Amino acid sequence: MPELPEVETVKRTLIELVAGKRIQSVTVRLPRIIQRPEEPEQFAAALEGHTIQTVERRGKFLRIILDGLVLVSHLRMEGRYGVFPSEEPIELHTHVLFHFDDGTDLRYKDVRQFGTMHLFETGTDLEMQPLKKLGLEPLDNPDFTLDALRSKLAKRSTKIKPLLLNQEYIVGLGNIYVDEALFSAGIHPERSANELKPAEWKKLHESIVSTLSRAVDAGGSSIKSYVNGQGEMGMFQQQLLVYGRKDEACSSCGRPIEKFVVGGRGTHICKHCQPLPKARQSK
Ligand SMILES: [Zn+2]
Repeated sequence: MPELPEVETVKRTLIELVAGKRIQSVTVRLPRIIQRPEEPEQFAAALEGHTIQTVERRGKFLRIILDGLVLVSHLRMEGRYGVFPSEEPIELHTHVLFHFDDGTDLRYKDVRQFGTMHLFETGTDLEMQPLKKLGLEPLDNPDFTLDALRSKLAKRSTKIKPLLLNQEYIVGLGNIYVDEALFSAGIHPERSANELKPAEWKKLHESIVSTLSRAVDAGGSSIKSYVNGQGEMGMFQQQLLVYGRKDEACSSCGRPIEKFVVGGRGTHICKHCQPLPKARQSK
């Protein structure tokens, strides 16, 4: 599942590959990817003749900015974009093709078919579903301050991990980077938000920013091989400290990483580095 750093990397790569290209026609091979407008024919017709200006990101959504239009795309589990010469054979699971007038295609491939595309007129997409209710952007955003994080979450009695996963408060943090950020901050995922101390909020804020920024930096360097090899971009494996490392030694104390379920999600922690308060340990 791509998370914010992966989507940010796809965004940056897409800018290099498709900014300035003019769409001649669009082929939709799997109508249900297209959520807005209702008819895929309308979607295709609306995009004809429009030029991609840049690509932005809101949470885990890509915003492909065209002259007069915004295409909002979510990759969900396995969506990928790739740029190919138009004459190249179409790979299996390719559902949407944007044919440019320079003889190349931007192709959207999605084995699981969960990805979505919504088309809007410029200036309307941020006020409408699916972007409308999204929370604070944690990456490269001067508004994502320690105070902003605390004012969103600190009064809540809910466990901190599900709160961080909720896209209505903070966007872009998925299961992987929540585990990573909580480990870096030394906070147990089952602590209630309202029991965290000021110093812990400070560490958590720093950890969210640094975990995401490092992941984006890593993506920026590893994505190149993807694009050169296949002309395709997507997820990459990132250096992770706890996620997916059950029974491996904690990078900080050497004790084994444990895995259990919090709020229905597989969760990785070091119990020594992320302790519960003493009163709750004895229960
Ligand atoms: Zn540890």
